[in-house]
Amino acid sequence: MNERSRDLLKRFSEADGIPGHEDEVRGVMTDALSSVAEPKMDGHGGVTFEKKGKAEHPRVLYAGHMDEIGFIVKSITDEGFIYMIPAGGWLDQALLTQRLAVHGSKGKVLGVVGAKPPHLTPPDKRGEMIKIRDMFLDVGAASKEDAMENLGIAPGDPITPVSSYEELNGGKFLLGKAWDDRVGACLAAETLLDVGDDHPNTLIAAGTTGEEKGLIGAQAAAWSCEPDLAIVLEVGITGGVPGVDTKEATEKCGEGVSIVFVESGAIPSPAFRRFARQVATDEGIKFQDSFYESGGSDGAQISRFKSGVPYLLLAVPCRYVHTHNGLIASSDYEEALKLCVALARKLDGQALESIRARA
Ligand SMILES: [Zn+2]
Repeated sequence: MNERSRDLLKRFSEADGIPGHEDEVRGVMTDALSSVAEPKMDGHGGVTFEKKGKAEHPRVLYAGHMDEIGFIVKSITDEGFIYMIPAGGWLDQALLTQRLAVHGSKGKVLGVVGAKPPHLTPPDKRGEMIKIRDMFLDVGAASKEDAMENLGIAPGDPITPVSSYEELNGGKFLLGKAWDDRVGACLAAETLLDVGDDHPNTLIAAGTTGEEKGLIGAQAAAWSCEPDLAIVLEVGITGGVPGVDTKEATEKCGEGVSIVFVESGAIPSPAFRRFARQVATDEGIKFQDSFYESGGSDGAQISRFKSGVPYLLLAVPCRYVHTHNGLIASSDYEEALKLCVALARKLDGQALESIRARA
């Protein structure tokens, strides 16, 4: 993987932004694309970047969501402990004793998710799962007043995972938070950086907002750029690890970019998928067919724009999504970027016609 991709993936992963608070991520994306296109913001804080090629149409949208899962400060106890509301779907057992940061009026405040020591837990209760609603964040405050006045924490403040970007096994795997969906935002940006000027269309990279809170920003992105076609970029639902069999997931890290054929709230365009598979085959790009049996993407909303936008759902396989530490294979990211760029060079008026005709 080249240096630019590594650097951008690190910056996207380490930027903080739960749904409704994506500003820092928008900054990373705007900076990454500063040599190519001007940012255009929508009313939710989402952003689109347009790059004109040889024709106005088709207008092809590459969309990744900028938000990550996290929490919101619900209330602060008199003793200074913080109760939280999840923003996005967390696994209860993935959270205890993890580091989180509250973004308050006086900046970032580090904390740890508290737990009752095993010594105080009766032996027969030690195997029981503690629910997130019973967990609390400990920021070292002495009281509610200390938390609010001195640390600047208030109900409604966003809370994000604390997790640095690391490379495993000589860079073959990339470890970090928020691959869902900074990988998508990064792919959208890098497609515009890599495509050159010779593309037969107009390309738009979008960083959407609030996906994890109900696909809030996807429609705003579509109205902002009025696409003819959309490529939604996501992480996959990945197996290939102990405890997951092929009945549940066939997708594996290291097997290439995923072309997703179904998600929970929509069906990606079969014709667009056929087109993408053909391009991948012609260009020698490693890909796998994959599915979301549950879970959805911005595609469900973008595809409903006006008279209907055929969309493609591409994903980078990711282990341990919706935790502090996701793992992606750098080779899968590279294959995904190759396919994004190859499609950007091939999606012309004729391709749009054949996809719309469902050929
Ligand atoms: Zn996602």
